[in-house]
Amino acid sequence: MTPLEELPLRPELRGRTPYGAPQLAVRYALNTNENPHPLPEALLADLQVALAEAARVLNRYPDRDATALRTDLAAYLSRTGGASVEPAQVWAANGSNEVLQQVLQAFGGAGRTALGFTPSYSMHPIISAGTGAGWVDGHRRDDFTIDPQAAVAQVRAVQPDVTFVTSPNNPTGTAVELETIAALYEACTGVLVVDEAYTEFARTGTPSALTLLPGRPRLLVSRTMSKAFGMAGLRLGYLAADPAVVDALQLVRLPYHLSALTQAAARAALAHTEQLLATVEAVKAQRDRIVAALPAMGLTSVPSDANFVLFGHFADSAAAWQALLDRDVLVRDVGLPGWLRVTAGTPEETDAFLTALGEVAPTHRLGD
Ligand code: PMP
Repeated sequence: MTPLEELPLRPELRGRTPYGAPQLAVRYALNTNENPHPLPEALLADLQVALAEAARVLNRYPDRDATALRTDLAAYLSRTGGASVEPAQVWAANGSNEVLQQVLQAFGGAGRTALGFTPSYSMHPIISAGTGAGWVDGHRRDDFTIDPQAAVAQVRAVQPDVTFVTSPNNPTGTAVELETIAALYEACTGVLVVDEAYTEFARTGTPSALTLLPGRPRLLVSRTMSKAFGMAGLRLGYLAADPAVVDALQLVRLPYHLSALTQAAARAALAHTEQLLATVEAVKAQRDRIVAALPAMGLTSVPSDANFVLFGHFADSAAAWQALLDRDVLVRDVGLPGWLRVTAGTPEETDAFLTALGEVAPTHRLGD
Protein backbone atom coordinates (compact mmCIF):
# COMPACT_ATOMS: atom_id res chain seq x y z
CA MET A 1 0.00 0.00 0.00
CA THR A 2 1.22 3.49 -0.83
CA PRO A 3 2.11 5.45 2.31
CA LEU A 4 -0.34 8.31 2.86
CA GLU A 5 2.50 10.83 2.85
CA GLU A 6 3.18 10.03 -0.81
CA LEU A 7 -0.27 11.18 -1.88
CA PRO A 8 -0.86 14.82 -2.84
CA LEU A 9 -2.99 15.31 0.28
CA ARG A 10 -4.01 18.80 1.44
CA PRO A 11 -1.23 19.95 3.78
CA GLU A 12 -3.58 20.70 6.69
CA LEU A 13 -4.75 17.07 6.68
CA ARG A 14 -1.25 15.62 6.89
CA GLY A 15 -0.45 13.86 10.14
CA ARG A 16 -4.07 13.90 11.30
CA THR A 17 -5.91 10.86 12.61
CA PRO A 18 -9.50 10.08 11.58
CA TYR A 19 -12.37 9.86 14.07
CA GLY A 20 -11.79 6.45 15.52
CA ALA A 21 -14.01 5.18 18.31
CA PRO A 22 -13.00 1.50 18.30
CA GLN A 23 -15.67 -0.84 16.93
CA LEU A 24 -14.60 -3.99 18.78
CA ALA A 25 -16.50 -7.23 19.24
CA VAL A 26 -16.99 -7.01 22.99
CA ARG A 27 -19.84 -8.09 25.22
CA TYR A 28 -20.39 -4.61 26.66
CA ALA A 29 -19.83 -1.81 24.14
CA LEU A 30 -20.21 1.32 26.24
CA ASN A 31 -18.09 3.67 24.19
CA THR A 32 -20.27 5.48 21.63
CA ASN A 33 -23.27 6.65 23.65
CA GLU A 34 -25.82 4.57 21.78
CA ASN A 35 -29.15 3.58 23.28
CA PRO A 36 -28.94 -0.21 23.78
CA HIS A 37 -32.69 -0.78 24.17
CA PRO A 38 -34.19 -2.75 21.27
CA LEU A 39 -36.59 -0.92 18.98
CA PRO A 40 -40.28 -1.54 19.76
CA GLU A 41 -41.85 -4.39 17.77
CA ALA A 42 -44.61 -2.06 16.52
CA LEU A 43 -41.97 0.23 15.02
CA LEU A 44 -40.14 -2.70 13.40
CA ALA A 45 -43.41 -3.72 11.75
CA ASP A 46 -44.11 -0.16 10.55
CA LEU A 47 -40.56 0.15 9.25
CA GLN A 48 -41.06 -2.90 7.04
CA VAL A 49 -44.16 -1.34 5.50
CA ALA A 50 -42.64 2.14 5.14
CA LEU A 51 -39.41 0.84 3.61
CA ALA A 52 -41.28 -1.47 1.22
CA GLU A 53 -43.40 1.48 0.03
CA ALA A 54 -40.33 3.67 -0.41
CA ALA A 55 -38.56 0.84 -2.24
CA ARG A 56 -41.25 0.81 -4.93
CA VAL A 57 -40.14 4.23 -6.13
CA LEU A 58 -36.39 3.85 -5.72
CA ASN A 59 -36.05 4.38 -9.48
CA ARG A 60 -36.84 8.05 -8.72
CA TYR A 61 -34.75 10.53 -6.80
CA PRO A 62 -36.06 11.25 -3.30
CA ASP A 63 -37.71 14.49 -2.19
CA ARG A 64 -34.68 16.78 -2.28
CA ASP A 65 -36.14 19.03 0.39
CA ALA A 66 -37.34 16.19 2.67
CA THR A 67 -40.50 18.22 3.19
CA ALA A 68 -42.62 15.61 4.97
CA LEU A 69 -39.78 14.58 7.27
CA ARG A 70 -38.97 18.19 8.15
CA THR A 71 -42.63 18.75 8.97
CA ASP A 72 -42.57 15.76 11.34
CA LEU A 73 -39.32 16.94 12.95
CA ALA A 74 -40.75 20.45 13.43
CA ALA A 75 -43.81 18.92 15.10
CA TYR A 76 -41.58 16.91 17.45
CA LEU A 77 -39.53 19.97 18.37
CA SER A 78 -42.64 22.10 18.88
CA ARG A 79 -44.12 19.43 21.16
CA THR A 80 -41.05 18.93 23.31
CA GLY A 81 -38.60 21.81 22.88
CA GLY A 82 -40.54 24.54 24.64
CA ALA A 83 -40.82 26.67 21.48
CA SER A 84 -42.84 26.59 18.29
CA VAL A 85 -40.71 25.49 15.32
CA GLU A 86 -41.89 25.72 11.69
CA PRO A 87 -40.90 23.14 9.04
CA ALA A 88 -39.07 25.92 7.13
CA GLN A 89 -36.80 26.29 10.18
CA VAL A 90 -35.74 22.64 10.12
CA TRP A 91 -33.04 20.96 8.07
CA ALA A 92 -32.11 17.27 8.09
CA ALA A 93 -29.10 15.26 6.91
CA ASN A 94 -27.31 11.94 7.37
CA GLY A 95 -26.53 12.27 11.07
CA SER A 96 -25.91 15.54 12.84
CA ASN A 97 -22.29 15.14 11.72
CA GLU A 98 -23.44 15.87 8.18
CA VAL A 99 -25.59 18.76 9.38
CA LEU A 100 -22.50 20.20 11.12
CA GLN A 101 -20.41 19.65 8.00
CA GLN A 102 -22.95 21.57 5.93
CA VAL A 103 -22.96 24.36 8.52
CA LEU A 104 -19.17 24.59 8.27
CA GLN A 105 -19.29 24.48 4.47
CA ALA A 106 -21.75 27.35 4.44
CA PHE A 107 -20.44 29.51 7.28
CA GLY A 108 -16.84 28.34 7.80
CA GLY A 109 -14.36 27.23 5.14
CA ALA A 110 -10.95 28.43 4.04
CA GLY A 111 -9.69 31.58 5.71
CA ARG A 112 -12.37 31.40 8.40
CA THR A 113 -12.27 30.32 12.04
CA ALA A 114 -14.30 27.96 14.22
CA LEU A 115 -14.13 27.88 18.01
CA GLY A 116 -15.41 25.32 20.49
CA PHE A 117 -15.01 24.96 24.25
CA THR A 118 -12.78 21.92 24.57
CA PRO A 119 -12.88 19.23 25.78
CA SER A 120 -15.97 18.78 23.67
CA TYR A 121 -17.18 16.71 20.74
CA SER A 122 -14.06 15.66 18.84
CA MET A 123 -15.73 15.96 15.44
CA HIS A 124 -16.18 19.73 15.71
CA PRO A 125 -12.47 20.43 15.07
CA ILE A 126 -12.17 17.49 12.67
CA ILE A 127 -15.04 18.69 10.46
CA SER A 128 -13.73 22.25 10.70
CA ALA A 129 -10.33 21.13 9.41
CA GLY A 130 -11.91 18.96 6.72
CA THR A 131 -13.83 21.95 5.40
CA GLY A 132 -10.82 24.27 5.57
CA ALA A 133 -11.52 26.41 8.64
CA GLY A 134 -8.98 27.15 11.35
CA TRP A 135 -9.77 25.98 14.88
CA VAL A 136 -9.45 27.75 18.22
CA ASP A 137 -9.85 25.93 21.56
CA GLY A 138 -12.25 27.76 23.86
CA HIS A 139 -11.40 27.78 27.56
CA ARG A 140 -13.19 25.86 30.29
CA ARG A 141 -12.70 25.93 34.03
CA ASP A 142 -10.85 23.03 35.67
CA ASP A 143 -14.23 21.49 36.56
CA PHE A 144 -15.08 21.58 32.82
CA THR A 145 -17.81 24.21 33.18
CA ILE A 146 -17.76 27.28 30.95
CA ASP A 147 -16.99 30.58 32.68
CA PRO A 148 -19.50 32.86 30.89
CA GLN A 149 -17.40 36.02 31.24
CA ALA A 150 -14.19 34.38 30.07
CA ALA A 151 -16.03 32.70 27.19
CA VAL A 152 -17.63 35.95 26.06
CA ALA A 153 -14.27 37.74 26.26
CA GLN A 154 -12.59 35.03 24.21
CA VAL A 155 -15.30 35.02 21.56
CA ARG A 156 -15.10 38.83 21.34
CA ALA A 157 -11.34 38.58 20.88
CA VAL A 158 -11.31 35.74 18.33
CA GLN A 159 -14.50 36.70 16.42
CA PRO A 160 -15.06 33.13 15.19
CA ASP A 161 -17.19 32.60 12.09
CA VAL A 162 -18.62 29.48 13.72
CA THR A 163 -18.82 28.97 17.50
CA PHE A 164 -19.81 25.62 18.97
CA VAL A 165 -21.46 25.04 22.33
CA THR A 166 -22.28 21.42 23.11
CA SER A 167 -25.09 21.13 25.64
CA PRO A 168 -25.11 18.68 27.33
CA ASN A 169 -21.42 18.57 26.58
CA ASN A 170 -19.66 15.47 25.31
CA PRO A 171 -17.50 14.04 26.94
CA THR A 172 -18.17 15.80 30.24
CA GLY A 173 -21.98 15.51 30.29
CA THR A 174 -22.75 18.96 31.65
CA ALA A 175 -25.51 21.17 30.20
CA VAL A 176 -24.77 24.85 29.55
CA GLU A 177 -26.96 27.61 31.02
CA LEU A 178 -29.17 29.43 28.53
CA GLU A 179 -27.85 32.75 29.84
CA THR A 180 -24.36 31.71 28.76
CA ILE A 181 -25.61 30.77 25.31
CA ALA A 182 -27.50 34.06 24.97
CA ALA A 183 -24.40 36.00 26.06
CA LEU A 184 -22.21 34.14 23.56
CA TYR A 185 -24.72 34.92 20.83
CA GLU A 186 -24.44 38.62 21.59
CA ALA A 187 -20.66 38.38 21.70
CA CYS A 188 -20.16 36.69 18.33
CA THR A 189 -20.74 37.98 14.84
CA GLY A 190 -20.67 34.55 13.19
CA VAL A 191 -23.08 31.69 13.72
CA LEU A 192 -23.49 30.02 17.12
CA VAL A 193 -24.17 26.29 16.91
CA VAL A 194 -25.67 24.68 19.99
CA ASP A 195 -25.10 20.93 19.59
CA GLU A 196 -27.95 19.33 21.55
CA ALA A 197 -27.28 15.71 20.57
CA TYR A 198 -27.97 14.57 24.15
CA THR A 199 -30.63 17.05 25.20
CA GLU A 200 -33.38 14.46 25.75
CA PHE A 201 -31.33 13.04 28.64
CA ALA A 202 -30.93 16.37 30.42
CA ARG A 203 -32.09 16.64 34.01
CA THR A 204 -35.67 17.87 34.39
CA GLY A 205 -35.94 21.62 34.06
CA THR A 206 -32.98 21.99 31.67
CA PRO A 207 -34.39 24.16 28.86
CA SER A 208 -33.42 23.72 25.21
CA ALA A 209 -31.71 26.49 23.23
CA LEU A 210 -34.69 26.20 20.87
CA THR A 211 -36.40 28.66 23.21
CA LEU A 212 -33.74 31.23 22.25
CA LEU A 213 -34.33 31.00 18.49
CA PRO A 214 -36.88 33.82 18.03
CA GLY A 215 -35.04 36.98 17.02
CA ARG A 216 -31.64 35.26 16.80
CA PRO A 217 -31.02 34.46 13.11
CA ARG A 218 -27.40 33.36 13.70
CA LEU A 219 -28.36 30.75 16.32
CA LEU A 220 -28.44 27.12 15.13
CA VAL A 221 -29.59 24.20 17.28
CA SER A 222 -28.54 20.73 16.10
CA ARG A 223 -30.13 17.47 17.19
CA THR A 224 -29.92 13.79 16.33
CA MET A 225 -31.97 10.60 16.30
CA SER A 226 -28.81 8.61 17.15
CA LYS A 227 -28.99 8.90 20.92
CA ALA A 228 -32.31 9.14 22.80
CA PHE A 229 -34.29 7.84 19.83
CA GLY A 230 -32.01 4.82 19.69
CA MET A 231 -31.61 5.08 15.91
CA ALA A 232 -27.83 5.52 15.48
CA GLY A 233 -27.85 3.17 12.49
CA LEU A 234 -30.45 5.28 10.68
CA ARG A 235 -28.10 8.27 10.31
CA LEU A 236 -30.53 11.09 10.83
CA GLY A 237 -29.55 14.41 12.31
CA TYR A 238 -31.31 17.72 12.05
CA LEU A 239 -31.13 21.37 12.89
CA ALA A 240 -33.52 24.19 13.79
CA ALA A 241 -32.74 27.81 12.96
CA ASP A 242 -34.01 30.81 11.08
CA PRO A 243 -35.36 29.78 7.63
CA ALA A 244 -32.55 31.85 6.07
CA VAL A 245 -30.03 29.42 7.61
CA VAL A 246 -31.87 26.54 5.94
CA ASP A 247 -31.62 28.42 2.63
CA ALA A 248 -27.88 28.83 3.22
CA LEU A 249 -27.42 25.10 3.89
CA GLN A 250 -29.19 24.29 0.63
CA LEU A 251 -26.33 26.05 -1.18
CA VAL A 252 -23.86 23.40 0.00
CA ARG A 253 -25.88 20.23 0.45
CA LEU A 254 -25.52 17.60 -2.24
CA PRO A 255 -28.67 17.14 -4.28
CA TYR A 256 -30.79 14.26 -2.91
CA HIS A 257 -28.42 13.80 0.03
CA LEU A 258 -31.08 12.13 2.17
CA SER A 259 -32.13 8.81 0.64
CA ALA A 260 -35.80 7.93 0.23
CA LEU A 261 -35.23 4.97 2.58
CA THR A 262 -33.76 7.21 5.27
CA GLN A 263 -36.61 9.69 4.99
CA ALA A 264 -39.22 6.91 5.17
CA ALA A 265 -37.54 5.18 8.12
CA ALA A 266 -37.11 8.43 10.04
CA ARG A 267 -40.77 9.30 9.56
CA ALA A 268 -41.82 5.85 10.75
CA ALA A 269 -39.61 6.26 13.81
CA LEU A 270 -40.98 9.72 14.58
CA ALA A 271 -44.49 8.26 14.53
CA HIS A 272 -43.30 6.14 17.49
CA THR A 273 -41.61 8.98 19.35
CA GLU A 274 -43.32 8.33 22.69
CA GLN A 275 -42.40 4.63 22.69
CA LEU A 276 -38.81 5.33 21.61
CA LEU A 277 -38.27 8.01 24.21
CA ALA A 278 -39.81 5.81 26.89
CA THR A 279 -36.33 4.34 27.44
CA VAL A 280 -34.84 7.74 28.31
CA GLU A 281 -35.89 7.66 31.97
CA ALA A 282 -34.52 4.12 32.34
CA VAL A 283 -31.18 5.20 30.85
CA LYS A 284 -31.04 8.23 33.14
CA ALA A 285 -31.64 5.92 36.11
CA GLN A 286 -28.61 3.83 35.06
CA ARG A 287 -26.53 6.98 34.61
CA ASP A 288 -27.42 8.09 38.12
CA ARG A 289 -26.71 4.59 39.42
CA ILE A 290 -23.20 4.72 37.94
CA VAL A 291 -22.59 8.16 39.45
CA ALA A 292 -23.80 7.00 42.88
CA ALA A 293 -21.59 3.87 42.86
CA LEU A 294 -18.31 5.62 42.10
CA PRO A 295 -17.38 7.18 45.48
CA ALA A 296 -17.34 3.78 47.22
CA MET A 297 -14.63 2.79 44.71
CA GLY A 298 -12.60 5.89 45.42
CA LEU A 299 -13.65 7.41 42.11
CA THR A 300 -15.51 10.53 41.11
CA SER A 301 -17.50 11.84 38.13
CA VAL A 302 -18.57 15.04 36.43
CA PRO A 303 -22.29 15.94 36.83
CA SER A 304 -24.06 14.52 33.76
CA ASP A 305 -27.15 15.61 31.83
CA ALA A 306 -26.40 13.03 29.15
CA ASN A 307 -26.48 9.25 28.69
CA PHE A 308 -22.86 8.88 29.74
CA VAL A 309 -20.59 9.62 32.65
CA LEU A 310 -17.04 10.97 32.67
CA PHE A 311 -15.35 9.21 35.57
CA GLY A 312 -11.90 9.16 37.20
CA HIS A 313 -9.37 9.81 38.43
CA PHE A 314 -6.99 7.20 37.15
CA ALA A 315 -3.22 7.21 37.40
CA ASP A 316 -3.09 6.09 33.78
CA SER A 317 -6.43 6.18 31.96
CA ALA A 318 -5.14 4.14 29.01
CA ALA A 319 -4.14 1.34 31.40
CA ALA A 320 -7.52 1.50 33.18
CA TRP A 321 -9.26 1.43 29.77
CA GLN A 322 -7.31 -1.71 28.84
CA ALA A 323 -8.06 -3.36 32.20
CA LEU A 324 -11.79 -2.81 31.63
CA LEU A 325 -11.51 -4.12 28.07
CA ASP A 326 -9.79 -7.23 29.43
CA ARG A 327 -13.08 -7.74 31.32
CA ASP A 328 -15.11 -7.39 28.10
CA VAL A 329 -16.19 -3.81 28.90
CA LEU A 330 -15.37 -1.21 26.25
CA VAL A 331 -15.46 2.38 27.49
CA ARG A 332 -14.04 5.49 25.86
CA ASP A 333 -10.64 6.97 26.43
CA VAL A 334 -11.39 10.52 25.34
CA GLY A 335 -7.79 11.64 25.75
CA LEU A 336 -8.35 13.49 29.01
CA PRO A 337 -5.62 12.43 31.44
CA GLY A 338 -7.13 10.68 34.44
CA TRP A 339 -10.62 10.29 32.99
CA LEU A 340 -12.67 7.74 31.04
CA ARG A 341 -16.20 7.96 29.68
CA VAL A 342 -18.87 5.26 29.95
CA THR A 343 -22.24 5.09 28.23
CA ALA A 344 -25.24 4.40 30.46
CA GLY A 345 -27.46 1.69 29.03
CA THR A 346 -29.33 -1.30 30.40
CA PRO A 347 -29.23 -2.45 34.05
CA GLU A 348 -27.28 -5.54 32.94
CA GLU A 349 -24.66 -3.33 31.29
CA THR A 350 -24.36 -1.22 34.43
CA ASP A 351 -23.95 -4.39 36.53
CA ALA A 352 -21.15 -5.61 34.28
CA PHE A 353 -19.47 -2.22 34.17
CA LEU A 354 -19.59 -1.68 37.92
CA THR A 355 -18.33 -5.21 38.64
CA ALA A 356 -15.41 -4.74 36.24
CA LEU A 357 -14.68 -1.28 37.60
CA GLY A 358 -14.74 -2.61 41.17
CA GLU A 359 -11.91 -4.97 40.17
CA VAL A 360 -9.96 -2.37 38.25
CA ALA A 361 -10.29 0.66 40.53
CA PRO A 362 -8.01 -0.42 43.42
CA THR A 363 -5.05 -0.87 41.05
CA HIS A 364 -5.67 1.98 38.66
CA ARG A 365 -7.24 4.84 40.57
CA LEU A 366 -5.05 7.80 41.32
CA GLY A 367 -3.44 7.42 44.75
CA ASP A 368 -4.50 9.69 47.62
N1 PMP B 1 -22.82 15.80 18.47
C1 PMP B 1 -22.36 15.21 19.56
C2 PMP B 1 -22.10 16.03 20.77
C3 PMP B 1 -22.12 13.83 19.55
O1 PMP B 1 -21.62 13.24 20.64
C4 PMP B 1 -22.38 13.09 18.38
C5 PMP B 1 -22.15 11.60 18.30
N2 PMP B 1 -21.29 11.03 19.13
C6 PMP B 1 -22.86 13.78 17.27
C7 PMP B 1 -23.07 15.13 17.34
C8 PMP B 1 -23.08 13.11 15.95
O2 PMP B 1 -24.08 12.18 15.97
P1 PMP B 1 -24.80 11.68 14.67
O3 PMP B 1 -23.96 12.05 13.48
O4 PMP B 1 -24.94 10.23 14.87
O5 PMP B 1 -26.10 12.42 14.64
